[in-house]
Amino acid sequence: MSSTSSVVLNTGVSMPLVGFGTYNLCESGEVYIAVDAALQAGYRAFDTAAVYGNEAELGRALRELLPKHGLSREEIFITSKLGPKDQGERAMEAALHSVSELGMDYIDLYLIHWPGTRDLAVGDPCNQGNRAGSWVALEELHAQGKLRAIGVSNYTPAHMKTLLQSCKTPPALLQTEFHPRLCQTELRRVCEEQGVCFQAYSSLGKGELVKHPVVMEVAKGCERTPAQVLLRWAVQQGVPVLPKSSNPTRIQENMALFDFSLDAGTVERLTALDDGHKYCRDSSEVV
Ligand code: NAP
Repeated sequence: MSSTSSVVLNTGVSMPLVGFGTYNLCESGEVYIAVDAALQAGYRAFDTAAVYGNEAELGRALRELLPKHGLSREEIFITSKLGPKDQGERAMEAALHSVSELGMDYIDLYLIHWPGTRDLAVGDPCNQGNRAGSWVALEELHAQGKLRAIGVSNYTPAHMKTLLQSCKTPPALLQTEFHPRLCQTELRRVCEEQGVCFQAYSSLGKGELVKHPVVMEVAKGCERTPAQVLLRWAVQQGVPVLPKSSNPTRIQENMALFDFSLDAGTVERLTALDDGHKYCRDSSEVV
């Protein structure tokens, strides 16, 4: 494994194992500096979403910075996501809007961000119909080549099973919260059985998990930082990660994962921290 390691999606397309998360990076100067540092550190994948409000800034930064780093669009992997307000009938227009905000001809991976629709109660059965409608729109844009791969985020095993039973194009990827306190065993099994790539977000527990005493102790023992331990724990299991940082030193630190490894006992010790804790929103109530 190296910083250029990738996973192959069920579309045959390769996706870098380490991508750059952009949630909460909104101001144009901040996005530009972070993207510059990320490209310099070797990141080739960028994760955004309509709800992050930074697609246009990210697209602009990449267009300006790729030539500086001697890179072309084809060497970069961009993920964006359909916002919950656009589920259902508005999905196609919203996905095309993301393509145009980014200022690119296509998006490498486009996900349904959340299983629910904004302004619908979690128990409202329309949630299910809207997500099914969104998926048909994504399938069409995938067939047209506007979305090179399509997938979902924050789906539970039940949401995944319904989608997998009804879709024409199976999802390439599920993006979900995953770290030692939330190992998502059943969800990972469903993905593995169905050939769906399982991708982690909030690997650092939104910056909280780096302060966990066990994580800190492991980090001290292997002379790495707690963030590197958390990210290595995931990538060593073949799970792609998306660390976010606005700090160039930490951006580099979060990519420096490939000159050490955790032994099996340490992986187990970290995995034993699983207490189902979520740092992000819980989607399990969405029908
Ligand atoms: P995260 O990556 O777990 O943590 C980010 C936080 O950790 C920031 O506060 C950052 O602060 C801090 N941090 C970063 N590197 C660090 C280091 N080496 N040492 C100590 N602290 C560090 O959280 P996240 O942003 O929630 O998740 C990552 C990405 O996943 C997001 O940006 C987004 O792209 C994606 N995501 C997707 C969903 C979804 O619903 N699909 C949900 C959540 C996240 P600084 O910026 O100050 O460094």
